[in-house]
Amino acid sequence: PHPARLAALQAIQQRTPVDCAPAQPLEEIWASDVFTLARMKSALPKESYKAVRRVIRDGGRLDLAVADVVAQSMKDWAVSQGAHYYAHVFYPLTNSTAEKHDGFISPQGDGQAIHEFSGKLLVQGEPDGSSFPNGGIRSTFEARGYTAWDITSPAYLMRTPNGVTLCIPTVFVSWTGEALDKKTPLLRSNAAMNRQAKRLLHLLGNDEVAPVNSSCGAEQEYFLVDTQFATLRPDLLLAGRTLFGAASPKGQQFDDHYFGAIPERVQVFMQDVESQLYRLRIPAKTRHNEVAPGQFEIAPVHEAANVATDHQQLIMTTLRSTAKRHGFTCLLHEKPFAGINGSGKHVNWSVGNSTQGNLLDPGRTPHDNLQFLLFCAAVIRGVHCHGPLLRAVVATAGNDHRLGANEAPPAIISVYLGQQLEQVFQQIQRGEATGSSNGGVMRLGVDTLPEFPKDAGDRNRTSPFAFTGNRFEFRAVGSGQSVAGPLVAMNTVMADSLEWISDRLEAEMGTGQSLEQSAASVIRQIMNQHGAAVFGGDGYSDAWHREATDDRGLENLRNTAEALPVLRREEVRSLFQRHGVISPVEMESRYEVYGEQYTLAIEVEAKVALSMVRTQISPAVQNHLSALASSLQQQQSIGLQPETRVLHQIAELHGRMDDHATALAGELHQLHNGDTAAAMTHCADVLLPRLQQIRETVDALENLVDDDRWPLPSYREMLFVR
Ligand code: ADP
Ligand code: MG
Repeated sequence: PHPARLAALQAIQQRTPVDCAPAQPLEEIWASDVFTLARMKSALPKESYKAVRRVIRDGGRLDLAVADVVAQSMKDWAVSQGAHYYAHVFYPLTNSTAEKHDGFISPQGDGQAIHEFSGKLLVQGEPDGSSFPNGGIRSTFEARGYTAWDITSPAYLMRTPNGVTLCIPTVFVSWTGEALDKKTPLLRSNAAMNRQAKRLLHLLGNDEVAPVNSSCGAEQEYFLVDTQFATLRPDLLLAGRTLFGAASPKGQQFDDHYFGAIPERVQVFMQDVESQLYRLRIPAKTRHNEVAPGQFEIAPVHEAANVATDHQQLIMTTLRSTAKRHGFTCLLHEKPFAGINGSGKHVNWSVGNSTQGNLLDPGRTPHDNLQFLLFCAAVIRGVHCHGPLLRAVVATAGNDHRLGANEAPPAIISVYLGQQLEQVFQQIQRGEATGSSNGGVMRLGVDTLPEFPKDAGDRNRTSPFAFTGNRFEFRAVGSGQSVAGPLVAMNTVMADSLEWISDRLEAEMGTGQSLEQSAASVIRQIMNQHGAAVFGGDGYSDAWHREATDDRGLENLRNTAEALPVLRREEVRSLFQRHGVISPVEMESRYEVYGEQYTLAIEVEAKVALSMVRTQISPAVQNHLSALASSLQQQQSIGLQPETRVLHQIAELHGRMDDHATALAGELHQLHNGDTAAAMTHCADVLLPRLQQIRETVDALENLVDDDRWPLPSYREMLFVR
């Protein structure tokens, strides 16, 4: 191999698993770095503690006097753990996590310094947010964005080799109150869903109805590549994915990685990640190898959506930072390697409360069934009315490589119910369900539903949105994405459907029909109007693509350039405005920011590809060509008739690569000639196909050029050497 690759290979051979302290008992580390309610209870005066509880439960603002007391005890705890700094943590529109750090230090008049932290600083910070994308909401002269503590998500300690920081999860809003982040709409969407769910639950005759919240359990897939290799790949470092790389002779075709033994170095890494997560009270539960070589998964137990979302961000941060310590680079990109399975983030989602339980769980009594069927029907209606929106919230440059590539669900959004549940809905649609309960026909609200299988065996892996026994699993979400966007969409769509159902139910019952008759009639209407979104077959097949778009009228938005403009559609704007989740101004800014993110990602890819071609690949090919040429000359000089075909082949590929690169450079210049929509289209229709053409020539060259000269670690090395 090339000397740089050889050095990397040798260094990796020398590696041993990082020395980690043996896993500590769970009871000792669980939540040890979180300022939990229990900690507050013991640290705060009774009245202050009660006030905190009240705000967590009912919303509203923390009284400044109480906030002072909370801040004081929070600071004392953090300082006792070694913290000198605190940070307001917020979630900008970039899928990342941002922090603004400040010291507790407060110099005193007498030359001394003490630690100080006030309630005001706890509940409101004022970061210089001018460098965060805001899609034109704030002009720089009024670049003031406020962070405000989300009291429903507890403060915690972040430990790094540089010290300990008290972290306070916050929302990030402009001084005029517009959301500049991902948390604000999530909290609002939960409130909207809660309002509508409670209304329906009351209509169904429940006397006591506790606040309804959404839950989320997200399965995170990721790749680990040795850092020795990653640092030799500018594309991995700067674009998060390989822009070049010939297929490895051994790929994932043997499926021997899936659920296979976890390599030791990786296992030690996982343990390290988990013990950090446990300290943060993040219930990491499953770990295993994924389909592709070098690919793994981590999934926590589900939690309240808002907390789960913050935890998800922490999981991504922890995976990345811990990987570094173990000599790995953690790739959260959706498609780091062409031809190899990509990474997703299955978002398991349900809604429920403490009085009625999980509302997407079929339950044991007839009354539960009726409730369950209506909530399920709400999802069906939501997916049908707003499929394009669900597509738009998973639209990123990285995820485009996955969706529709027959490894992940297609870009067409349909909903899978499982055979039995689908039959139940069809029976109701045919009007059979309210008839007699003889002959296996179910009487809605009287008979009990069959147990729906929860095991993975019965699941349709090709569906983007699947019922899995007591929740829906949104499988189209990308591995590097924040789960906030998808959760906001699901909650809001749910709120909208629940409202529609309550309106219809009230109308039907107003004509003197029973609750059961009314419910059956509402479900029938939903199936008649929206049943087209229900699909249990093979989502990967061409037949489905035809049927979905031609017969069922479902949209197939193939890439981000097609999907993001959905955010500007009137029905989407009014949906979010009606439910008080995202205002039209906020929505427009989101469209602009996400559009910019998409074009920026592809612009970076194009620039990195050009520089790799010109400074790494082309020189390697030229060196090899001249060596070949002189060898041929020598052979001729002693009277041999050398084989020149390979030389010509390489020269021809090199010429083509060069032509495409020149064309790409010109096309890059045209990127910013129009508005966001034009730039996205230019990326999707011009830059990406050109990148692909360059890639084909480069990958062909990789298989022809002397291995000693090829500077980039190969797929074989990156995927299999650990
Ligand atoms: P699989 O890989 O078979 O889909 P996993 O066990 O890896 O399943 O992950 C399932 C995820 O779904 C977990 O995070 C789990 O906590 C979550 N989950 C289970 N029940 C619910 C629910 N009612 N609401 C939301 N998430 C749930
Ligand atoms: Mg799953």
